[in-house]
Amino acid sequence: MRPLSEVRDLVLARCPRLAPRDLPLAHVRGCVVVDDVVADADLPGFASSAMDGFAVRAADVASATEDIPVVLDVVETIMAGQTTARTVGSRQAIRIMTGAPVPAGADAIVPVERSRFSDGSRDHDETVAILAPAEPGQHVRGAGDDVRAGTVVIPAGTVLTAPLIGVLAAVGRTSVEVVPRPRVGVISTGDELVEAPRALAVGQIRDSNRPMLLAKAAEAGCVPVDLGWVRDDVDAVAAALHAAAFRCDVILTSGGVSMGEADVVKLVLQRMTDPQWVQVAIRPAKPFALATVDGVPLLGLPGNPVSSLVSFEVIARPALRQMAGRPVEGLRVRARAAVALDRRPDGKDHLLRVTLDPADGALTATPVAAQGSHQLWATAQADGLALVPDGPGIPAGDEVEVLVLDPEALVPGRP
Ligand code: AMP
Ligand code: MG
Repeated sequence: MRPLSEVRDLVLARCPRLAPRDLPLAHVRGCVVVDDVVADADLPGFASSAMDGFAVRAADVASATEDIPVVLDVVETIMAGQTTARTVGSRQAIRIMTGAPVPAGADAIVPVERSRFSDGSRDHDETVAILAPAEPGQHVRGAGDDVRAGTVVIPAGTVLTAPLIGVLAAVGRTSVEVVPRPRVGVISTGDELVEAPRALAVGQIRDSNRPMLLAKAAEAGCVPVDLGWVRDDVDAVAAALHAAAFRCDVILTSGGVSMGEADVVKLVLQRMTDPQWVQVAIRPAKPFALATVDGVPLLGLPGNPVSSLVSFEVIARPALRQMAGRPVEGLRVRARAAVALDRRPDGKDHLLRVTLDPADGALTATPVAAQGSHQLWATAQADGLALVPDGPGIPAGDEVEVLVLDPEALVPGRP
């Protein structure tokens, strides 16, 4: 058996970061930016009004009150997107809408709520009564007061979020150089697998791993590629893998890697480049295989559904993160064991499926009711994988390290 960290290193060595591509903004959410993004101009690019109102000279309205307003001539109206060649002169105002450039001569905006038409009506606007004084600069958005030209707005290595994609658009980008989402092919093997709605004979089961792993790949920010089910036939599996290598960046197989005679993936990988079968010193998810198919890394996950899921989390997911240019490590927390996490020494680290409870400020971890490697439904309740190292176990109340599967479980008050 080999320690998990060693197996992970083997896998990471085969799964380098993908070559960057220039992608349109609609396709880059969650992708990692390859080069610093620099603003080549100020944001905003010009001084503009933050309110609907009147562009004025602050000095003109210094004495304005509700009782004794200052009356100004309204010489023009400018909307967002318009400009004017006119200068606001003494005792003049320009009616201005939010976002329109502040005209020359004006140094403040009086909001429409602080004005009244001088005859008390709202139906003509040749003059306006200003009801309150204005500070110079009031309600003016200065040029460059968000970003100065030359600023690195997105450093290389940043994961693109929705607001950062807005920033890219604001600085004039329509596309950006990113590490693309890995295309993750998932293929399941096993003569016992039968697709619904075909009835199950005794000994037959549904293929739960393939949809689960495809969903996991999507959840990890990758493009899932459904490669279907292949029967336990060496030639059929080999053909499917070669076809998959054409359209995927990495292939995940489910099943056929344990110690049985018909472990087809093990047999097929003998025909591929640098095959390795490893016994990982963890429980569940001990069997694992890796190889390279026509230049594409293949990770062979075990068939037992819970093992498949754990193997994905602790081996495949870090590899997918590296391929996507992200930090390899996922979210880990320390929690208090709600009950004793008993076990016996067996040379393996155990990954117990636990729920997490953040009540009272202290995170606690409780094992889900069933821990068998075939008990997927029980596993589906888990928020994390508690790492119980080889040894006698962890007493109730002691700390345990948990790999978080569902970050929402850390928010108090969630069901
Ligand atoms: P294997 O690794 O192929 O020996 O499979 C180990 C166990 O996992 C067996 O009980 C299989 O029936 C089961 N299994 C294999 N593949 C799948 C799958 N895609 N979905 C659900 N169970 C599976
Ligand atoms: Mg099998």
